[in-house]
Amino acid sequence: MKNAIRDLIDISQYAGARADYTQGGGGNTSVKDDGKGVMLIKASGYRLKDITENTAFVAVDKNRIADYYASVDLSVEKDYEKESADVSKSSVIELAGIATLRPSVEVGFHAILKKYVIHTHSVYANILTCSLEGESLAEKIFKDQDFGYVFLPYINPGFELTLAMKKAIDGYVKSRGKYPEVIFMKNHGLVVNSDDLERVKNVNEKVNESIRKYFGLADDFRAVKLAVSGDGFVSETPVVCNFVKTHGLTKAFLDEYPLYPDQLVYLNNILQFSPDKLKVENGKVYYHTDEKQATTLEETLAAYLFVITTVNSAKLNISKMSEKEVYFINHWEAEKYRRSVK
Ligand SMILES: [Zn+2]
Repeated sequence: MKNAIRDLIDISQYAGARADYTQGGGGNTSVKDDGKGVMLIKASGYRLKDITENTAFVAVDKNRIADYYASVDLSVEKDYEKESADVSKSSVIELAGIATLRPSVEVGFHAILKKYVIHTHSVYANILTCSLEGESLAEKIFKDQDFGYVFLPYINPGFELTLAMKKAIDGYVKSRGKYPEVIFMKNHGLVVNSDDLERVKNVNEKVNESIRKYFGLADDFRAVKLAVSGDGFVSETPVVCNFVKTHGLTKAFLDEYPLYPDQLVYLNNILQFSPDKLKVENGKVYYHTDEKQATTLEETLAAYLFVITTVNSAKLNISKMSEKEVYFINHWEAEKYRRSVK
């Protein structure tokens, strides 16, 4: 178990160190301890960089979750979302000295993947997943790479996403005779998985660098910048400042362009229920909240505006979530829990 924890910290620090890969509590990682059928996964609501030897992750019975998805009978009329969430919750294994937390809302698909899984909301991957041309561009960008990939359409997270991912992987293996290490999820993000610790990081790096270079983007968005202002903070991140100076930022704009779930969970949600915490004044974004929440909001906003700005300047067409998809996220029990953890 010690090795698995060490590896989980390794990939979590790697993916969690950069705001262009993960924002706030978004993204998650997992490591399977093969001999024991145990999977360690980031806990819901925590940040990747919070993960240490004894916090911000949980152990689950990986086989229990994977077996559920392998054998679920879809012919019966019932609430599969709830049933699968109950399976995830009851698969939690208590470890001595480690607080028992709730596993990431994305625990289902982690259980069906290879030993090491890095799931991020990479802004580079999301240029492809949030544009109508993204899937055909991926073909162009990755045709000579040594890894296979699948490009999933938008699917509600949770039960349905896990099943669809399993089906797409099985189909890819059958038709191409190799395993896809990379999964793009429309209007959501990127998953890289491998049985090799170095490989999972290398492939993740290659995917992001290839997209960044294809669009000729500077490598200058690894962290956001906030300055203290009164009893709060003001945004000094270039992508945010430049956008807001010219276009402003309103809830109507965010509602009109729903790109992916984390935008809704963090940004649209805060503007709707706590508008005092995020205010635009004189072309600047101010956060009247603690540093942790301000950072989460700023990272999420910067990533969102980075994707929108790049899609526009590359003359691609934005692909938005549908009303129905937005509704699902806003009413999903798991997301309500996630945003309640700070
Ligand atoms: Zn995600």
